[in-house]
Amino acid sequence: MPVQLRFKSGLSSTDYVTGEGWRLATLSRCPIHSRGGCGFARHGTYTRVSPPGTQIARWYCPSGHRTFSLLPDHLAARFPGTLSEIEQVVATVEQAPSLEAAADRLRGDDITLPSAVRWVRRRVAPVRSLLTIVVGLFPQWLQGCVPQIIAVRERLVCDQALMLLRELAAVHLQSLAPPLGLLPPLLLAGEHKAAVQHHMGPDLPSGFG
Ligand SMILES: [Zn+2]
Repeated sequence: MPVQLRFKSGLSSTDYVTGEGWRLATLSRCPIHSRGGCGFARHGTYTRVSPPGTQIARWYCPSGHRTFSLLPDHLAARFPGTLSEIEQVVATVEQAPSLEAAADRLRGDDITLPSAVRWVRRRVAPVRSLLTIVVGLFPQWLQGCVPQIIAVRERLVCDQALMLLRELAAVHLQSLAPPLGLLPPLLLAGEHKAAVQHHMGPDLPSGFG
């Protein structure tokens, strides 16, 4: 899996696809070898299934055997689709009598309720953990805020909390879990909460972009 870095594209999902926003992504030097000499070069793009037509720009460092990709702000990290879609799921759960009721409302005709519940849980659980961390990161805005999307939207006076948090938490993204954060895959198996307390190791770009 590539190391994901933030691409502050400033584009909506639609504009990113129609304008081929991945062509605008730039990474001028290798995040591992700042002095160069490692053969770092652009390495094409890869395609995301959702939203349709989305491609992600990619770079490769032959010395470090590592691929880097530039994830635009509207996309969820390591989840299909956009941050906005995930946020909508979590907000629906917060307003529903139960997670099961929300899953039943969100599911398509060909999706069973148990799989819809699993699908919703996979989104709600990490977002809740992330919001708990984020509330602690920004006491100046979020002190005493319950770690829920609707409450965070109200405090931040926005209708897309996760996209705004990509921006606000930019320097923390390499320590935050998906779908908001860009925690490198090697650390994904470890302790998320521990990771956020520590700065990145020397070979991982902290706050890059
Ligand atoms: Zn390199």
